[in-house]
Amino acid sequence: MSENNFDLIVIGSGPGGYVAAIRGAQLGLKTALVEKSKTLGGTCLNIGCIPSKALLHSSEVYYHTSHGIADHGITFSNLSLDLKKLMKKKEDTVAKLCGGVAHLMKTNKIKVFHGLGSLIGGTQVNVKEETGTELTLSGKNIIIATGSSPIELPFLKFDGETVVSSTEAIAFDKVPEKLVVVGAGAIGLELGLVWARLGAQVDVIEFLPSIVAAFDKDVSKTAERLFKKQGLNFHLSTKVTGLKHSGGKHILTAEKDGKTIEFEADKVLVSVGRKPHTDNLGLQSVAIETDEKSRIPVNDHYKTSAPGIYAIGDVIAGPMLAHKAEEEGIACVERIVGQAGHTNYDLIPNVIYTDPEIASVGLGETRAKEQGIDVKVGKFNFAGNGRAIATDATDGFAKIIACKKTDRILGAQVISKHASELIASIVGHMEYGGSAEDLARTIHAHPTVSEAIKEAALAVDGNALHSA
Ligand code: FAD
Repeated sequence: MSENNFDLIVIGSGPGGYVAAIRGAQLGLKTALVEKSKTLGGTCLNIGCIPSKALLHSSEVYYHTSHGIADHGITFSNLSLDLKKLMKKKEDTVAKLCGGVAHLMKTNKIKVFHGLGSLIGGTQVNVKEETGTELTLSGKNIIIATGSSPIELPFLKFDGETVVSSTEAIAFDKVPEKLVVVGAGAIGLELGLVWARLGAQVDVIEFLPSIVAAFDKDVSKTAERLFKKQGLNFHLSTKVTGLKHSGGKHILTAEKDGKTIEFEADKVLVSVGRKPHTDNLGLQSVAIETDEKSRIPVNDHYKTSAPGIYAIGDVIAGPMLAHKAEEEGIACVERIVGQAGHTNYDLIPNVIYTDPEIASVGLGETRAKEQGIDVKVGKFNFAGNGRAIATDATDGFAKIIACKKTDRILGAQVISKHASELIASIVGHMEYGGSAEDLARTIHAHPTVSEAIKEAALAVDGNALHSA
């Protein structure tokens, strides 16, 4: 096989692409990875999951140090914030992880090409390097994993300075005095909380009547109440209409109940979703047509309409989540070599990394009822959990939704500290068709906040031990 001929070429090195490349190499495929950025890891590692979680962690440390630390008997004066240093910690984390992916490519003998990849017909990929040098790669199979980018509002265009996306909002060089966040989903809430904790006045404008609208009402109401306490000012059922500039100030305009409202802002973070990244990809050269949302249509095996060309991750339908992209990358490659890889779309956990965190899997109570399923619901407040009381983590609850007839767990929603970790055991039970009783009879270590999950499972049949 000549130097630029491969069994598998992956375009895009995000969690979908780089994991697919590793799985390909593990299965004996001569694999190439094409990435237009200087660093590997995609949105997730460079400007998404990882930097946002690093900022959430640092800002939480700062917030807790300045709020309520005296209760622990710790007092000090002259607390100050060095934002440059805080950002450096985030950048070091990102660099470490991106470097880790580069190392994994080496150890798995995956050939990395840095340049813009585009399809040029058949199963060939043109790579245009930053220097202008172009080369052609031939692959038996190609996986498109080019991810997504922020959606821009036509009346609120990104200018990189005042109207920004998450990419700029994870790297402000000073704490904005007034930050307006448009969109109360995961990214808007996480970054809104980061800057509120660091001292910004944060207004969150949401078109829908509730925040985190994908979760059950009791979860979104609890979240709204707890985030308000941390300084987020919510404006729900409110429609942003534009931005004007007056007397050196930026004024965001919005409408609620037919009335115009104005918000002064140093920065406006628009976080209303992301769109698949299919520009300049040469899709027309292989006659692939995108759908109404610019996504690449694929079948159950991630095959596009073009022979030998597959697509995974944010660029295809489904929730735009890193772990969904990873699973699809693995399943796609396993299908390519004739194995039976699959992604269980019913069990993709969804997490918002606020404080408390919000996590769900499977059907919520509302959706289950909408589908006409007869359910029983077990709910347990963290206020009844010993470890939560000992560690200031009593906010929130865990809720298990089970089928009334079979007791099989259909879904769960958890709002609490560490909800992102707690949801994993429920996913595990559900993956194997577990019942609420199975979960309720599983021994959980004491004292752990995970005991609240067992209690919620016990509550499905009214048997919770520690609920007031
Ligand atoms: P991406 O990670 O977007 O990677 C695509 C890669 O392809 C990029 O590196 C891009 O440069 C490259 N590329 C594009 N076009 C070309 C081309 N023509 N040639 C070569 N290379 C190309 N998800 C979670 O699950 N949990 C979270 O906590 C979370 N937090 C997030 C926070 C923020 C602020 C953001 C923005 C996103 C977050 N996400 C989170 C979403 C997550 O980042 C994405 O779902 C995930 O990165 C998608 O992976 P992917 O492999 O499909 O694409």
